Amino acid sequence: MELLDLRKDGIDIQKQIPLSKYTFTKTGGPAEYLAFPKDLDELKKLVQVTREKNIPLTVIGNASNLIIRDSGIAGLVIILTEMKKITVKANTVTAEAGARIIDTAFTAARAGLSGLEFAAGIPGSVGGAIFMNAGAYGGETQNVVQSVNVLTRDGEFKTYSNKEMNFSYRHSLVQDNKAIVVSATFGLKHGDKLKILDEMHYLNALRRYKQPLEYPSCGSVFKRPTGHF
Ligand SMILES: Cc1cc2nc3c(=O)[nH]c(=O)nc-3n(C[C@H](O)[C@H](O)[C@H](O)COP(=O)(O)OP(=O)(O)OC[C@H]3O[C@@H](n4cnc5c(N)ncnc54)[C@H](O)[C@@H]3O)c2cc1C
Repeated sequence: MELLDLRKDGIDIQKQIPLSKYTFTKTGGPAEYLAFPKDLDELKKLVQVTREKNIPLTVIGNASNLIIRDSGIAGLVIILTEMKKITVKANTVTAEAGARIIDTAFTAARAGLSGLEFAAGIPGSVGGAIFMNAGAYGGETQNVVQSVNVLTRDGEFKTYSNKEMNFSYRHSLVQDNKAIVVSATFGLKHGDKLKILDEMHYLNALRRYKQPLEYPSCGSVFKRPTGHF
């Protein structure tokens, strides 16, 4: 089977698409093939064809931590932003990899769950946040991750515990084993909804002051904030 044959299964896959349309910096050349899977099943099919045909595979979340070269990316680029379901159960929030970490944090807050406040202004996806153990204002993804579901490059579905994710500063296991994050479950604490939202708005106000998000790259316009972000 060829990659474009997957269109018959309803998979959104196109050829030679400029990635500048999707990156935070609004730069970057074309993806040879670009797909937007809507669920795990579509993702599995895409991974399987790349394996069978030996096609290079690149996975992107919200493209807020990437600089893509003007010559583009060979092979298949998968953007996960259509896999974005977020569900709340008791004191946990489970989000698909393409959900924005900001939306996940606000969903948790509206459910009166505390722990993700630090992520209220990080412009990445859940997959990207897990990949690099994103953090801000003293909080870090690893502090609230309960488990992570991945698809390995061999097409195997696996669940890792927090410990197995081998988190450290801006690092996690998936940087080493190249597994694709499919979803993550965050273990949170019940709290006062208004206080949680208040803290998030406060952190966002601080951030807006330092990093105006309306610019494609804050670095070129404003001095980058110092310290860990
Ligand atoms: C204005 C601004 C403010 C920022 N503030 C912060 C901050 O406070 N704290 C912070 O930590 N970061 C910050 N960042 C960086 C960035 O938002 C984070 O690193 C974020 O976690 C990246 O997520 P993403 O979905 O955009 O990843 P992408 O840029 O799409 O990808 C980054 C890397 O993650 C990999 N990846 C993405 N999704 C998956 C997946 N599902 N499975 C496997 N690998 C995947 C990609 O292959 C790539 O190597 C900021 C960036 C900007 C532009």
